Amino acid sequence: MRIELINTGTELVLGDTINTNAAWIGQQLAALGLSVARQTIVPDGAVIGEVLAEAAGRNDVIIATGGLGPTNDDVTREITAGLLGLPMDVDAGVVAKLEAYFHKRGREVNQATLRQAMVPRGAKVMDNAFGTAPGLYVPAALGAERGWACHFFLLPGPPRELKPMFETGVVPVLKALHPAAAGREVLYLKVTGMGESDIVDHVERELEAMAEAGLEMGYCIGKGDVDVRLAGPGEVVAKGAALVREKVGEYILSEDRRVLEEVVVHLLAERGETVATAESCTGGMIAGRLTDVSGASAVFGYGYVTYANEAKVRELGVSAELLMRHGAVSEPVACAMAEGCLEVSGANHAVAVTGIAGPTGGSEEKPVGTVFVALASKGQATKCRRLFFPGARDRFKLLTSQAALEMIRRRLLNLTLEP
Ligand code: AMP
Ligand code: MG
Repeated sequence: MRIELINTGTELVLGDTINTNAAWIGQQLAALGLSVARQTIVPDGAVIGEVLAEAAGRNDVIIATGGLGPTNDDVTREITAGLLGLPMDVDAGVVAKLEAYFHKRGREVNQATLRQAMVPRGAKVMDNAFGTAPGLYVPAALGAERGWACHFFLLPGPPRELKPMFETGVVPVLKALHPAAAGREVLYLKVTGMGESDIVDHVERELEAMAEAGLEMGYCIGKGDVDVRLAGPGEVVAKGAALVREKVGEYILSEDRRVLEEVVVHLLAERGETVATAESCTGGMIAGRLTDVSGASAVFGYGYVTYANEAKVRELGVSAELLMRHGAVSEPVACAMAEGCLEVSGANHAVAVTGIAGPTGGSEEKPVGTVFVALASKGQATKCRRLFFPGARDRFKLLTSQAALEMIRRRLLNLTLEP
């Protein structure tokens, strides 16, 4: 099955927007055992017609992204209908959805938006759960009369709208068109606290031995975590996953693409427990990540940003003498911050971080990148880890927040805190 991808949008050609949709769609197709034969980027406007006409003659499937919006330069829908000689009808279902979308926001739907309710006759509407522009699937039979027996998928440009639509609207059709894709599975094992090369050391050789049975594997470095991606026939993927679990099990934080903060919030919620944060060098990033998760209010009530020594004393009751003696970036102070935070918040767990983000402020004994992460929990001994994340400030903050959240996860699962 030959598939071509056409990404439209002037912002892509100008380089103002990175074409992440192409990368993401490529991955999704690979998971189905399919691949993109050719990929084109074009600006908005009539040129979309040129590439569609070229591509329609040589493909079984065309996936086009962008240009479905309400503005004058969003012409993918009209151009596709014109190419295939299909009249456009107003789709009452789409109109109703657009009206509901606008009413919910206290506005009346305008004429420009209603253009999005025009549907080439016979095409199937794919719902957009995160925006106004519906997607369209034009089955090959519709263009066959003009000699273009090619399936067209027209998807919106914004990734958060495109991704769910691809999963619910495109994947099932591709599986039906390409039955070999149906028996395939993809599993993402999200690993943290272990670098990519360490993971490879642990699992590579044995996983490679499964390649003959059809196992495909890949690694994708995320923000403080690594996805081990296994794809292939269901039973082979299951075998590969069992091996990864056996080798690095306690480092696997999720198998459903959930990120660490989601896992932590869910684990706390399951146990009916709460966490509080006392942050120095991360400036609130840990609290920020926790509150990114829907449902955080049930498990998180207090986040202290105590950047100055005085704040550590006043908000968390850290003793000035301790700060003098050991310095703010030290194990005793990290522990005192965590214990003070536990006390004043009344939470079940309190995590504290203090470190040197740099680029200035390091010393021989405590170079830039040094950080102490402490976890205090009711009825348990306070634990502290000394870690080292040299590098850019943003990276330091991210990895520190990751280590802090990971310490909470490990405590909740009764795993060792210092792996
Ligand atoms: P559109 O559906 O053409 O109105 O796209 C609207 C927005 O989606 C653009 O302004 C971009 O921010 C984003 N976008 C469009 N195409 C892509 C792409 N290929 N990759 C990533 N983002 C995109
Ligand atoms: Mg556009």
